[in-house]
Amino acid sequence: ADRDDKPHVAVLANSGLGHVVPLLEFSKRLVVGHGFRVTFLVVTTVDPNPAQDQLLNAPGLPHDLHVLGLPAVDAASVVAEDSRLLTCLCLIVEESLKSLKATLIELSYLRALVVDLFCTQAFDVASELSIPTYSFVTTSAMMLAFLLYLPTLDREVTGELVDLPGPVQVPGCPPVQLEDLVDQLKDRRNEEYRWLLYHVSRLPMAAGIFLNTWDGLEPDALRALREDSFYRQVPAPPVHAIGPLVHEDGNGEGLRSTDVECLAWLDGQPEESVVLVSLGSGGTLTTEQQVEMAWGLELSQQRFLWIVRKPTDASASAAFFSVGSDEEDDPTKYLPQGFLEKTREVGMVVPSWAAQVAILSHPSVGAFLSHCGWNSSVESLTKGVPMIAWPLYAEQRMNAAMLAEDVGVAMRPSVEEGRKVAGREEIERVVRAVVSGEEGKRMRRRAREIRESLIERLGPGGSFHASLAAVCEDWKTTKGRECEEELCA
Ligand code: UDP
Repeated sequence: ADRDDKPHVAVLANSGLGHVVPLLEFSKRLVVGHGFRVTFLVVTTVDPNPAQDQLLNAPGLPHDLHVLGLPAVDAASVVAEDSRLLTCLCLIVEESLKSLKATLIELSYLRALVVDLFCTQAFDVASELSIPTYSFVTTSAMMLAFLLYLPTLDREVTGELVDLPGPVQVPGCPPVQLEDLVDQLKDRRNEEYRWLLYHVSRLPMAAGIFLNTWDGLEPDALRALREDSFYRQVPAPPVHAIGPLVHEDGNGEGLRSTDVECLAWLDGQPEESVVLVSLGSGGTLTTEQQVEMAWGLELSQQRFLWIVRKPTDASASAAFFSVGSDEEDDPTKYLPQGFLEKTREVGMVVPSWAAQVAILSHPSVGAFLSHCGWNSSVESLTKGVPMIAWPLYAEQRMNAAMLAEDVGVAMRPSVEEGRKVAGREEIERVVRAVVSGEEGKRMRRRAREIRESLIERLGPGGSFHASLAAVCEDWKTTKGRECEEELCA
């Protein structure tokens, strides 16, 4: 069909890579699998963001997917120096969305707008313009259940949530241990908490919620969201589990020279022998922890591929707004002296950013030490790779608990009483256990089962296509109905 005949949908993402990645994949699927034209609106800042640029300008994006950056925000002018991660993100979004109405008016007839969890201001704008609006929550079904329960928790609990006498019982979900609570909930007086509460309280305004998960992975949480009386009363919008959405690194296109080097190095390693160490788009270690990590990897005598960043004691998400920037380019400046020489035979170190999915897909990778961001978790599961859970911030501790305890594909290193970091011996132990131990074998079998269970879902006529097709049909017929009304008049 001619480009203009195709129904048009807009998708809105905040600037965080963990949001851009799945929303862009979602957009591609609307174009390639369901015949839409998509405008991908994205919050941008004036600061350089090389990893974001690389994704948004990838040569393999389909013709009918049009990326449109909203006017760049000067983060320094809207964010206070001591603002925490989510506050920064939300203030930047708020500033950016001031231009949303004008942008949406410019776009030709939109069948629907799909917005990221932290862009709920868009509900008001879209409602003025009568555009049906959906939410895309880029985390697990269990986390969505938790988020929908949060306003109730906020009303019912008076003190700090971390001082509750026992775990939080979210309707229809396993209990959440207090130490695994989302960062933002640990201090209710902080602005971050208010922002999270603000956005999640507005979720019921959505006409539907998309999740990057699937029934085979989270049957109980999804059933609860759809059937449990609590979520009916909220009321929770219809939930569409449309995963796994995995960014395939352009299938070879758009790989940088460092990525090609990593893949060539992996070609030379035995099957399932390498542990990939990668902490998401923003994760960083403290100086002390980074030293222990280097020692742990070395002592384990296992092969490793480490996507490494400059350590920092200020925050665990220090690279969030600047990942891929130049200052991290030279690991010899911040890795323990001699480490690179001593591990030359078994290790490969890449600064800052690499094509994670392409690496995880390589048969030489046998384990993934991950911060357990939801995208990384889904990627590891779809590639059948067992994990070492190294949660750092946001909801990563809840994801880690789920992967270790419910799904059975991850091991969590323990931190000794009185210490702030996981020591080198513990890192040595878990790396060995997962790459070459019995425990690792069991977890790998489980991860493979999950990968294999996806073959049918992803195949022709599988439920993967159907999970999105029903909503797409609704969107396509919206215009039909209006036309009919016009004809009848
Ligand atoms: N990623 C990547 N290369 C890196 C680090 C991360 O391609 O060096 C990708 C990763 O594959 C995932 C996304 O960035 O798709 C990070 O999302 P996730 O939800 O795992 O974590 P977040 O960055 O939101 O904490």
